[in-house]
Amino acid sequence: MSTFDSDAAAKVHAHLHSHLPSEPALRVKALESLLVERGMISTETIDAWVEAYSEEIGPKRGAQVVARAWLDAGFKARLLKNAAEAIKEFGFEGNATGHLIAVENTDQTHNAVVCTLCSCYPFSILGMSPSWYKSAAYRSRIVREPRKVLAEFGVELPDEIAVKIWDSTAELRYIVIPQQPKGTESWTEDQLAALITRNSMIGTQRELAVS
Ligand code: FE
Repeated sequence: MSTFDSDAAAKVHAHLHSHLPSEPALRVKALESLLVERGMISTETIDAWVEAYSEEIGPKRGAQVVARAWLDAGFKARLLKNAAEAIKEFGFEGNATGHLIAVENTDQTHNAVVCTLCSCYPFSILGMSPSWYKSAAYRSRIVREPRKVLAEFGVELPDEIAVKIWDSTAELRYIVIPQQPKGTESWTEDQLAALITRNSMIGTQRELAVS
C-alpha cells in the first residue's frame, strides 16, 4: 500500500507549476481571448501587431532618426525643437511618439531615460522595450544612483559630465541622441544608422563601436 509523501507531492506540484506560463502571460492570454470572443479584435490583428513591433519596427527607426540628425543640422534642430513633428518626415506611423522629446548627449552631458511609474517607451521608433527597462530595480535605481547604474551598463562617467535622467509618462516619451563617433564624418546615413544601438538611444550606452 502506498503512503502519501508530502515532500514528493510538493515536488510534483512545483514541477507542474514550472510548465505553466507566468501570471502576467496568463492574464494577457485571458484578455486576448475575451477581446477575440466578443468580436472586438481579431487574432489576425493581434498577430500583425506583434509581428510589426518585433520584426519590422525595432530600434532601426530610431537609428535612422539619429543618423539623419548627425548629418543634417537643420533636421537636428527640428528634432530637438519638436521631435514628434520632425519624425513625421520619415512617415513613421504608430502610437507612443505623439509627445516625443529628443535629448542630445554632448561632451558635458549624458542623458538616460526611464519610466519610474511603469514602462512607458517610444515603441513606434524603438520597438519592444528591453526587459531590464521594465524591471523595478532599473526604474528605481537609475533615479537614485544614476552613475552607479550606468557604470553597471559599462558607461563610466567622469564627474565633469553631468547626468540627466528623463522620466517618461504615458504622454511623454524620450529618445537620446548619442554622439557621433569620431572618424565617421564621411559616412552615409545608412552606414551611420547601422552603428546606432537601442541602448544608446535609451542612454545606457554612450560610446558607439565603429568596426
Ligand atoms: Fe510608464
